[in-house]
Amino acid sequence: MNGRDDDTPGQRATTAADGIGPGVESQQGVEPAHAEPSQARPDQAGRRPVEGAPVRNGPGPGGDIVLEGRGITRDYHVSGGFFGGRKTVHAVRGVDFSVARGKTLAIVGESGCGKSTLARIITLIDPPTTGTLLIEGRPVQISGGRPPRDLRSRVQIVFQNPHGSLNPRQKIGNVLMEPLELNTDLPAAERRDRARGMLEKVGLLPEHFDRYPHMFSGGQRQRIAIARALMVNPAILVLDEPVSALDLSVQAQVLNLLADLQKEFGLTYVFISHDLSVVRHIADDVMVMLRGEVVERGSRDAVFADPQHAYTRTLFAATPVTNLDAIRARVERKASRRRAMQEQVASR
Ligand code: ADP
Ligand code: MG
Repeated sequence: MNGRDDDTPGQRATTAADGIGPGVESQQGVEPAHAEPSQARPDQAGRRPVEGAPVRNGPGPGGDIVLEGRGITRDYHVSGGFFGGRKTVHAVRGVDFSVARGKTLAIVGESGCGKSTLARIITLIDPPTTGTLLIEGRPVQISGGRPPRDLRSRVQIVFQNPHGSLNPRQKIGNVLMEPLELNTDLPAAERRDRARGMLEKVGLLPEHFDRYPHMFSGGQRQRIAIARALMVNPAILVLDEPVSALDLSVQAQVLNLLADLQKEFGLTYVFISHDLSVVRHIADDVMVMLRGEVVERGSRDAVFADPQHAYTRTLFAATPVTNLDAIRARVERKASRRRAMQEQVASR
């Protein structure tokens, strides 16, 4: 699937942590702001019209909305350094969004605009400070501690840097089975079968089950992270810069894999990226963020053809457009050459 042979180990070092992932909560001098229970306010709390952010071609009222955020805000209180003052960072400010089943919402914006904060809220890793999140129509209760595990398993996340989330001493089979141990009561034999099946679904091999993370290339490790996220049968996958650390040809392969998986499992994606050529390739709808706020949203075609907000236009102008079609064509050429060679060998 997807020319996995192109994806050789050591092509490129994964980038350093980008401020997301499991480590971020332990940052010194940082603590999450007090989170209000979502019931404390009406659903529309914090909602306000965003100038220049018309909703165009959004899902109609009858659409099957799998994920919805209403007036989501998130503040962080950070210590102000030497004099010990406290500062509040408004990372996400009154963000509304909804995603229909099987669709991809891309969130774009430059570093620090709040994309990963929103990702952590959607995947129930962090609560919003205010606002309401609805998953498959169910409002998420954040007042009583962790949300129930059946709700948690509906939304999974894949980070940019799978290194951070893969334990170097854990075999891949265990990496995949672990979410089932934590979230289901499936017997061991079934956990193993599912993990082996999932390896195949993401273009890896059954014998990879007993290998360790360091034996894989960056692209393969991202396949493992995707497989792990899918183990608990989620409805929604949040992909936070999932291909940003990969070589371009490997990016195309992983994006193709994601497209295949979306179709096969009817998955809904929230795809976070600063790379507009990737967004153009994968998104149904696009939401542009600037300093914690949404400044533009709409269907991919509408936003790309006719960006309304000045910031969106600046963002587009600043982005070198890599040509994914050319990359895909190259990957396909390589794959067909390989097939031809294999046929030659077989016919000898
Ligand atoms: P992005 O993913 O778009 O680069 P982030 O969501 O990571 O942006 O960050 C948004 C803002 O919130 C930034 O100003 C960042 O410094 C701040 N921030 C993110 N996480 C934390 C945290 N755990 N503590 C304090 N500030 C944070
Ligand atoms: Mg980020």
